[in-house]
Amino acid sequence: MMYIGIDLGGINTAAGLVSDSGEISSKRSVPTPRTPEAVADAIAEHVKNLLELSDGSVKYIGVGSPGAIDPGNGVIEYWANLGFNNVPLGRMIEERTGLPVIIENDAACAALGEFRSGAGKGVSSLLAVTLGTGVGGGAVLDGKLYTGINHASLEIGHLVIEHNGRPCTCGRKGCFEAYCSATALIKEARKAMDLCPDSLLWKLAGSKENVNGKVVFDAFEAEDPAAVKVVEEYISYLGCGITNLVNVFQPDVVCIGGGVSGAGETLLSPVRRILDSEDYARGCKKRARLVQAELGNDAGIIGAALLGVN
Ligand SMILES: [Zn+2]
Repeated sequence: MMYIGIDLGGINTAAGLVSDSGEISSKRSVPTPRTPEAVADAIAEHVKNLLELSDGSVKYIGVGSPGAIDPGNGVIEYWANLGFNNVPLGRMIEERTGLPVIIENDAACAALGEFRSGAGKGVSSLLAVTLGTGVGGGAVLDGKLYTGINHASLEIGHLVIEHNGRPCTCGRKGCFEAYCSATALIKEARKAMDLCPDSLLWKLAGSKENVNGKVVFDAFEAEDPAAVKVVEEYISYLGCGITNLVNVFQPDVVCIGGGVSGAGETLLSPVRRILDSEDYARGCKKRARLVQAELGNDAGIIGAALLGVN
């Protein structure tokens, strides 16, 4: 069997032809149009092109979309980024392609992709944590995608890890996201640059505007004192947040994706040490494994494609 998965994003709309085992044989991407009609047209065009390359066995289209989704009727109830409210995207794609459509939240699709053919292959529960502009999450628990009543993502970015801490865009204070998103890491690095005019961060980034996660971790590895302070604090908060999540979900695997995860073991091994000393189940034989996500941006396409596979 072959499947078509669509990863609808705020910037690009990507589509792929996916096999049973979760491999992408063909992939394409276009900038996401701004209106529902144009989005449905762009997806239908992707589908037409991929169907021509398929073996004729495609039975439905899987779509991962940001926002709150009602998979029962294929409606995007709310997507702030593009200002979509109650958009019946499922029906609009069905009308254009003649194929049934399954829609689910994009972070949930990415978690399902990692579960089926990435970091969670062969396990029963996986938690996917994305460290990007915000901190996002998705969960597959006991083999089933968990989405909650609103089919939004798991809003793990808004777990408070520092009571009355840094203000967050959601209105709370001390959220996980205010400490562990790439945005927060970069903000702290910029503050450190102001305090340390001789920091290596200046040399590596060239300017405060050009700082990114990679630069911060490169300076950390070179033992630049300003970067060491920023990264050690970042890791300490990340260890706190991940340990909270492990205590709640007790998953087989926690996979870390998103821009900051590019730091690999430099990031993961100290977080693992925190988990090893603080995880409530640390005395048990079975322990949650902390690993890097394996599929990168493909996770969303693969998860969406396999939404209809039990
Ligand atoms: Zn928040």
